[in-house]
Amino acid sequence: MRVFTSPKEFQRACIEARRTGELALVPTMGYLHAGHETLLRRAARHSTSALTIFVNPSQFGPNEDLSRYPRDVEGDLRKAEACGIDLVLTPKPEDVYPAGFDTWVEPGALSLPLEGEHRPGHFRGVATVVLKLLNLGQPTHAYFGEKDFQQLALIRRLVKDFDVPTEIVGVPIVREEDGLALSSRNAYLSAEERVRALALSKGLREAQRLFDAGERRIDVLESAAREPVAAVSERIDYVTLRDVDTLLPPVEVTPGRVVMLMAAVVGKTRLIDNAVL
Ligand code: AMP
Repeated sequence: MRVFTSPKEFQRACIEARRTGELALVPTMGYLHAGHETLLRRAARHSTSALTIFVNPSQFGPNEDLSRYPRDVEGDLRKAEACGIDLVLTPKPEDVYPAGFDTWVEPGALSLPLEGEHRPGHFRGVATVVLKLLNLGQPTHAYFGEKDFQQLALIRRLVKDFDVPTEIVGVPIVREEDGLALSSRNAYLSAEERVRALALSKGLREAQRLFDAGERRIDVLESAAREPVAAVSERIDYVTLRDVDTLLPPVEVTPGRVVMLMAAVVGKTRLIDNAVL
């Protein structure tokens, strides 16, 4: 495994790898967990696999957790190696955004609701850094988790709109045995908060159970998902059923075409989760 801090050197290694085969890229913010590792192992099936670890300042709001976001590069490198990753980029912010950097990707309608509403500017930062990472690695495939459902939809749109010749592969949410969706931010949770955080996956299971039993009323499904979360969380940003493609309120509620999305604060930690019904 080769580890780079210089984006340009990483790019040279990626272009070299592309001469002889496929290259799969997994962009992350590090503090890797079993969810990330699933993406890494999928990527490692390609002839060359690359991981980027970058806590991207431009996707954090002024009152968000940029400075305290958990980091463990050494542990991450051990995990990446065990998953069979070939190339790693761990750049410094000033290598990604050098003096004079002045061009931003402005995502459209998919960036406006949900996370976009509660984290202004977040997706502008995400879209910009993802486009940069795709241009650096020039991968044939890039792996993203469905955990960040809106982000995945937006990135699929981004590569279409900007003619990026990379296949975007979505990977289902990896959960703990008790249902909690794995997230680097789970590290913030105390033992007591960790128990309360189970309400998110519980709400999703409740909605799924009703849906499987034939319920199609949006308000009933949303209430079922919201109730357990409302009972234990400090704040709910949203619990809402949306069309899987547009992320707008669904016109037709049919299997595989709607997703229940939620964001809520437990303790001081903002958690997101979702399920396609
Ligand atoms: P992050 O480091 O949080 O930016 O995540 C890097 C990538 O891993 C993103 O594409 C996430 O959607 C994905 N990811 C994070 N958590 C999970 C999970 N529990 N299951 C599947 N993918 C995940």
